[in-house]
Amino acid sequence: MSNRRTYEARGSVRGACGHSHVTLRAAVACCEKDANGCASLGGGAYSDRVVTLRTPGNGWDELTPDEIANLESEYMSARVRKERGK
Ligand SMILES: [Zn+2]
Repeated sequence: MSNRRTYEARGSVRGACGHSHVTLRAAVACCEKDANGCASLGGGAYSDRVVTLRTPGNGWDELTPDEIANLESEYMSARVRKERGK
């Protein structure tokens, strides 16, 4: 059994993405992909998925403050990249 941390995008409405993302960046990208997919449906649809950390044997944990700070900077840089891409 691996002790490696993995991340998953989960939301109470959208459910879990079913992946085991090794990097926070990949999990953020998965959230964004789901958010974009929901937005493309129109009608105000949105994704409630957030990145969660899977701890082997302990289910799901909230991210540590450091990880949340990381996550926020990932979101920011993803938004900057998107805006510059237009
Ligand atoms: Zn995923």
